[in-house]
Amino acid sequence: MRTPPRLSLNNGVLIHQLGFGLYKVPPADAAGLVAVALAAGYRHFDTAAMYGNELGVARGISPELSARPGSGGSGELFPALSRDDVFITTKVWNDHHGYDATLRAFDNSMVNLGLDYIDMYLIHWPCPRRGLFPETYRALETLYREGKVRAIGVSNFQPAHLDRLLQTAEVVPAVNQIELHPWLQQEELRSKHRELGIMTQAWSPLGRGQVLADPVVQACAAEHHRTPAQVILRWHMQLGHIAIPKASSEARIRENLNVFNFELSDRDMAALAGLERGQRIGSHPDNVN
Ligand code: NDP
Repeated sequence: MRTPPRLSLNNGVLIHQLGFGLYKVPPADAAGLVAVALAAGYRHFDTAAMYGNELGVARGISPELSARPGSGGSGELFPALSRDDVFITTKVWNDHHGYDATLRAFDNSMVNLGLDYIDMYLIHWPCPRRGLFPETYRALETLYREGKVRAIGVSNFQPAHLDRLLQTAEVVPAVNQIELHPWLQQEELRSKHRELGIMTQAWSPLGRGQVLADPVVQACAAEHHRTPAQVILRWHMQLGHIAIPKASSEARIRENLNVFNFELSDRDMAALAGLERGQRIGSHPDNVN
């Protein structure tokens, strides 16, 4: 299967449009799933300090990175896979907001991941009641300037949080990773992202599996001889989102990647646009602190 196409972030760094999400993947399973996903063609992995599986992600990736010819690794699956071929995102958790605490949290994630640099570091939630996200972001800017991370961004930021951040930020966030699926289309945020040059990254792109049962999605899938998950992921791709679906079996991991050889028509896209109902799977960002 082919590796997903890459999009250019606002600083020119390339990111694979479809990645693999690791929320709720038990630490003991992470290495195995990452290895399966790599073999399927995924190159972009989304973890977080809060997921507790950064170490597992590292264990899944590092054998392939050391598998270059002459390196003593297995060399069989990906003889040419290098560090530049994979994109790793991790995130600072809510209880590490603040300049110094964030720098310490980053060091801890670096140790867990065993990497020389991280591709993207995000503020996991804005935690508006703590009021520390501007300081937290300043730490991300330090890490970015030091070359420890190739791109920085935010997650779960509402328009007002972005406005506040941009009063003091010197680096425009590369992405805002938000809950986004056909039942929660986030039009206001997406248009703000376009205005600001921030890439929209969809978490729970399948509505944590719930949107798969939607009759409109099912009808569209039947018409294209595809699965509901493929239809939704294709919708994200055609809208230019980055999506990071999570799946627990090799069959689903492969199925979710197989979305680059068909196209939804304007009529399909309009039908899916009509599914908006403002329904969240996760928490509202104002309520996470
Ligand atoms: P998803 O929308 O990716 O849905 C995952 C669910 O859908 C799982 O139950 C999975 O089942 C099921 N599923 C996946 N593929 C298929 C398929 N082809 N057919 C049928 N069912 C399928 O939800 P997530 O909440 O996991 O979000 C994805 C990623 O987004 C997370 O893993 C994480 O990396 C990120 N995220 C970020 C957040 C943030 O605050 N920044 C918050 C939440 C998520 P099964 O596992 O049994 O295969």
